[in-house]
Amino acid sequence: MYKIDSQKAEEFICHEEILDTLEYAQSKSQDKELIRSIIEKARLCKGLSHREAAVLLECNDPELVEEIYRLAREIKQKFYGNRIVMFAPLYLSNYCVNSCTYCPYHVKNKTIARKKLTQEDIRREVIALQDMGHKRLALEAGEDPIHNPIEYILESIKTIYSIKHKNGAIRRVNVNIAATTVENYRRLHEAGIGTYILFQETYHKENYEKLHPRGPKSNYAYHTEAMDRAMQGGIDDVGIGVLFGLNTYRYDFVGLLMHAEHLEATYGVGPHTISVPRICSADDIDASTFENAISDEIFQKIVAVIRISVPYTGMIISTRESQRSREKVLALGVSQISGGSRTSVGGYATEELPEENSAQFDVSDHRSLDEIVAWLLKLGYIPSFCTACYREGRTGDRFMSLVKTGQIANCCAPNALMTLQEYLCDYASPETRRLAEDMIRKQMEEIPNPAIRKRALENLERIAEGKRDFRF
Ligand code: SF4
Ligand code: SF4
Repeated sequence: MYKIDSQKAEEFICHEEILDTLEYAQSKSQDKELIRSIIEKARLCKGLSHREAAVLLECNDPELVEEIYRLAREIKQKFYGNRIVMFAPLYLSNYCVNSCTYCPYHVKNKTIARKKLTQEDIRREVIALQDMGHKRLALEAGEDPIHNPIEYILESIKTIYSIKHKNGAIRRVNVNIAATTVENYRRLHEAGIGTYILFQETYHKENYEKLHPRGPKSNYAYHTEAMDRAMQGGIDDVGIGVLFGLNTYRYDFVGLLMHAEHLEATYGVGPHTISVPRICSADDIDASTFENAISDEIFQKIVAVIRISVPYTGMIISTRESQRSREKVLALGVSQISGGSRTSVGGYATEELPEENSAQFDVSDHRSLDEIVAWLLKLGYIPSFCTACYREGRTGDRFMSLVKTGQIANCCAPNALMTLQEYLCDYASPETRRLAEDMIRKQMEEIPNPAIRKRALENLERIAEGKRDFRF
């Protein structure tokens, strides 16, 4: 039975409700009047239900699809302007006791090099990341109670926050580790993490169990209810996502939105971010064998419909996506991207560590962070290294109310420009520096509030003089 605010996975992600929704969406896919009315509702920026979103995803009328894309671009502009938040993944360990059939870290893979970073290795990785200009990390580790216990993760977070190399600092550590207990989520919260991220992979229970035959992750309910435990442990910024290609995209799209609705209905705050990874090849994984892999066109439509269905939730893509694909979805709704990523353990400080194959997936976008920053600037985006919100205590419902009223833009815009100024002073190549200076000059004039503009201008001067870490 479908129950949006139930604590049970099978009630808030109700299989029958998803099947009914898909049948309804299919039956309404030609109903132009209904589709137009849903688009008009989305225009109010109050979000859509999973049923309404499913109807839009089924729509194939070229004119209406273009209307959906246009609205996605407008909503993206309204809530996020032309800012794109930058981050990098940091792989701590690829030891894993699980058996996910789509990930080369699965326990039975004997060909991959297993590695776990020591605290000294982490120092080297973080210094390399700081020297690139990164301020925001997503910590990644396989599930292994012996190699990667929670104490190791907590110690690593402490190490990361403690490293101050030249003008560098990692100011926000998001964490992507296996589903755990309320108590462990509490400890992560106390360690000062930003967002807790956990991908559902697929919401289809039967397929989930086939894809995860052994290990703790094979427990569908425990995995699906992880965000509830994270909220109960005090983490109010959570990031959800599915791995598109594992199951039919329609089913997982509806499941994803139902999960977002469940969090909002139960805890008064929806997901902070939604990630949209697609299945990708790596070591002993061949993406072409996954019959549910999705085309670029479907991928773009998914991004656009998510954007208008949950307008105040950030959307993330990784370097799994190529430059071309990233360019398309940036306009349609993605607000955060990784740059200069290494998806192997110890991949950033390769001079010190032997190069072995320990990557979780093949990277499609191989450009350096500086190249990505220059590319974004040329496309008219502002690369932002902002991490202000959680450091100012703007998390959970406090954050969401600022986003929903649009007030957050008063912080995001100057913070983006000030952190870009830090980047250009400390890390940019001459070409990127020139592009960034032009962008900052133009965008400062666009800050509507004169008092904020004045303070931001003063801070830009202080950054040029060597001071760091200003924020609104
Ligand atoms: Fe382990 Fe995560 Fe890979 Fe599964 S997806 S094998 S849990 S690292
Ligand atoms: Fe993100 Fe907050 Fe910074 Fe805006 S001000 S970019 S919402 S951290």
